[in-house]
Formats: sequence, structure tokens, C-alpha cells
Amino acid sequence: MRVAIAGAGLAGLSCAKYLTDLGYSPIVLESRDVLGGLVAAWKDEDGDWYETGLHVFFGAYPNMLQLFQELGIEERLQWKEHTMIFNQPEKPGTYSRFDFPNLPAPLNGIVAILRNNDMLSWGEKIELAKGLVPAMLRGQKYVDSTDRLTFSQWLKQQGVGDDVEQGIFIAAAKSLNFIDPDEISALVLLTALNKFLQQKNGSQVAFLDGSPTERLCQPIVDHITERGGEVKLNAPLKEILLNEDGSVRGFLIRGLNGAEDEIVTADLYVSAMPVDVVKVMLPQPWQENEFFQKLNGLEGVPVINIHLWFDRKLTEIDNLLFSRSQLLSVYADMSNACKEYADSERSMLELVFAPAKDWIDKSEAEILAATLVELETLFPQHFGGENPAKLLKHKIVKTPRSVYKAIPGCQEYRPSQVTPISNFYLAGSYTMQQFLGSMEGAVLSGKLTAQAINAQATPEAKTSTKQKPTLQPATNAATA
Ligand SMILES: Cc1cc2nc3c(=O)[nH]c(=O)nc-3n(C[C@H](O)[C@H](O)[C@H](O)COP(=O)(O)OP(=O)(O)OC[C@H]3O[C@@H](n4cnc5c(N)ncnc54)[C@H](O)[C@@H]3O)c2cc1C
Repeated sequence: MRVAIAGAGLAGLSCAKYLTDLGYSPIVLESRDVLGGLVAAWKDEDGDWYETGLHVFFGAYPNMLQLFQELGIEERLQWKEHTMIFNQPEKPGTYSRFDFPNLPAPLNGIVAILRNNDMLSWGEKIELAKGLVPAMLRGQKYVDSTDRLTFSQWLKQQGVGDDVEQGIFIAAAKSLNFIDPDEISALVLLTALNKFLQQKNGSQVAFLDGSPTERLCQPIVDHITERGGEVKLNAPLKEILLNEDGSVRGFLIRGLNGAEDEIVTADLYVSAMPVDVVKVMLPQPWQENEFFQKLNGLEGVPVINIHLWFDRKLTEIDNLLFSRSQLLSVYADMSNACKEYADSERSMLELVFAPAKDWIDKSEAEILAATLVELETLFPQHFGGENPAKLLKHKIVKTPRSVYKAIPGCQEYRPSQVTPISNFYLAGSYTMQQFLGSMEGAVLSGKLTAQAINAQATPEAKTSTKQKPTLQPATNAATA
């Protein structure tokens, strides 16, 4: 059976990978000249990598870890010490750590929290435990019910004070969805806490040993092509063409650089494009359908990823750091954390700038200047003195619409992978799965789409697995 997939982010690639494993022949059509979508990365003029986002993998990512195993590339995950490190705004240049001991979950998490005396007083620990522990014990059904509240509202309802919110949860909310606790759905933080605390290594992070494009996406593409599938870059979906009964007749692909548009026809079609793109590309007859109308409740959140190369080492820390600063979220010194970016003499900081809604339209110079002011607090020993660290170069990647903004009530707008259109499916981290807008969510969504396709395929259709989707010039086929 032939399957055409629009979008070569992790969801589209995962969908194609699992379809080839099931014997199908997918073709992935990606609009850009780079794989990976939100994990895409590029080399600059000096050969240094820069990325759409600073990405870490968690121990609580079962589908992603399985994918690495299936591709035989597990050694590319560089696991870090099991600790969470926060900057201390009130003591510039110092860190507070939650060290997870080698004990079963959730004991290791409880000990990590009890041992930390910088960020939480004993009174706050008790307050937090009283609020969080019952929520954790009541399971996912309870967590799902918290989607009507922001995390700030939920904390207040549980009697947890503002200091705890300020101290820990602004950093946590910004790292999970690039927004503050007074915007993010309580469901997001409670889901993450559940997954992190219930598995021994759930919150342990790994960095990839190089760029996601080369070190993760390319092996998925190799897996797909070795099994008869195809991945095409520079192939933007322009229009979803319909049959009279409303099912999909073909994907119209825009011809670039003066080339003719083409129609890709297949037995089944998948959109693995971002939800903001799907919304504007819905064929008119589908717009009346409640299933597709719900997509209007979802919108990508802006975020900015910043890379700064310095003339010296700013830190030796080889892990993810929570800045707890006003403009920045998480960051890492990639010269320590990532094998391919390693440099023993100079730091390359990769920093996530969030919330970014008031900054996304500002100039690079303004964003850079604001970031450098925050670095003076994060690394006072390297700035402000007689011989301050010198910025050698920078790269800034703005993403005006990234993962779906997880505000209260948006769970009900997240669609299933199966749609009311018989030959059309959705994949993407915004589609319904437990892992929210993450790489794990994207990989899982693609797998769920492949499984749904396989489950719905008739036995006759399954036997015609070796045919490839066909490409025709649009001018002929569009009128056929
Ligand atoms: C700054 C940042 C940091 C992040 N950090 C983490 C992290 O640490 N851990 C984590 O798990 N997750 C993280 N994420 C989230 C993670 O990157 C995403 O959830 C995941 O990559 C989304 O994958 P996707 O395939 O669903 O969507 P996308 O990656 O958006 O893929 C959609 C694809 O569709 C393509 N497309 C668009 N229009 C068309 C068209 N017309 N025709 C054909 N193709 C089209 C796009 O170019 C893209 O390749 C981060 C994201 C960002 C932005």
C-alpha cells in the first residue's frame, strides 16, 4: 500500500519508519531543504552547528529510546549525571542542585527534594508535598481533569504559596512549553512530574552526540530508504486535492525554482505538518467538519534559540541548566555537553529564550543585548571585570510557531491520528498522545499513525505493499 506523508519532522519520519517496518512504501515530502522540523540544525560558515532548539532526551521517553535501539544508535545518547541544576538569582553565579540518589522511584525523587535546602525551606517542602503527593497518587484520570486550570491556579487550590511557584515552577513551565505557570495548563506539569517521579531514571537527561539532523533524522531516513520508502526535501505540499466524495485524490506539491507543480498520488495520505500549517491547508469541504474545526483551538507558541560562542570557558558543567532568569529558560554549555560540539578552551552556550511573545518580532541585536545582560547574572565572574569574556559570534533562530501552546482546555482540541476522512491521517506532537509537545510525543504520534493505518488496511490492500506512490506533473493530473 502506498502512503504519502507531508512533513519530515520527527513525527513524519517516525510514521514512515514504522510503515516500512510493516511492509508499506511511504514517501515523505518535506517543504524545506533540511530534515527534522523543530529539531532541524544547520552548519554555519565555520562548520559550527546551530539548531532550532536546545534538545534533551529524558529517561521517561520509552518510544524515543526504543527508536534509538531499533536504529542501532543508542550510543549516540550521552547520558548525564542524574541531577537538576538551577541558577540562584539571589546569589549570582551559584547553583542549587536536586541530586537523585541511586534508589528506586519515587524514593530517589523524594530524597532529591528533601536534600535541597537552597530552593525550598522545610515549610515549603511540606506545603509542596501536601499539594503534589495526592495528585500523583490519584493517577492520570485526575491529572487529565486538571486541564481546566492553569498551573498557578492549581497550586493555589492546593495551598502551595507563590514562593514555591516562583522558585521552581516558572523554570519548569518555561522549559516544558515556553510559557509561564499562569498560562500553562496544570495538566502539563502534573503529567511531566508523574512521568519523571514514577520512573527511576525518568528525569535523567541525555544530549545527542551531534546535530539531530545528522545523528538522529538521517539514520531514520536511511532505515526508510533501505526498505523501499523515500524521503524528498524541497517538496512543499501546496494543496490537498479531493475526490468528489471528499476523500483525498492527491497531494499537490509546489514546484520550486520554476519547476512545474506535481501531484503525488497514493492509497493513503498523512499530514505530519505543524498544526498551524494544517489549519490553513484544510480543503474547504473539510472546514465544516467539527473534527477539523477543533484544530482552531490549537496554536504554536513562539520561542527563540540562541547560540553564543565565547573566547573562553564560562563553566565546566556538563548538564542541562535552569537559568531561573526573566528572559531565559533552560541552557547548556554545548562545548561540554555534546561530543561533536566539544571544545576544551571555549564555551558555546545554547540558550532557550522564553516566553518569547514580546520578543519574537524584535531585532537580533535587541535579543542579543537582552541575553547578554542576563548572562552577567548567570556568570558574574566572567563579565563586568577588567577582562570580560568576549563574544566571538552568535546565531539566533526564531520560531514564531513551535509546539502547540498548552493552555487550559486545549486537550479537547488535540485530534486523534485517525480522521473522519477515510484515506487521510494526522501525525505530529500536537495530535493526541500522552507526551505533549515533545520529541517523544512526535515519535509516538508517528508510530500511532502507522499502527492505525495498518489496523484499518483491508487484507487486499496490505498485499499490494510494494508499489510506490506515483508522481505526475500537476498540469496533467489536476485536470484528469
Ligand atoms: C526551542 C525548542 C526546544 C525544544 N526542546 C525540546 C526538548 O528538550 N525535548 C523534547 O522532547 N522536545 C523539545 N522540543 C519539542 C520538539 O522539538 C517537538 O515536539 C518535535 O520536534 C515536533 O515534531 P513534529 O514532527 O510533530 O513537528 P515539526 O518538527 O514541526 O515537523 C513538521 C514538519 O512539517 C514540515 N512542513 C511544514 N509545512 C509543510 C508543507 N507545506 N509541506 C511539507 N512539509 C511541511 C516542516 O518543515 C517540518 O519539517 C523543543 C522545541 C523547540 C522549538
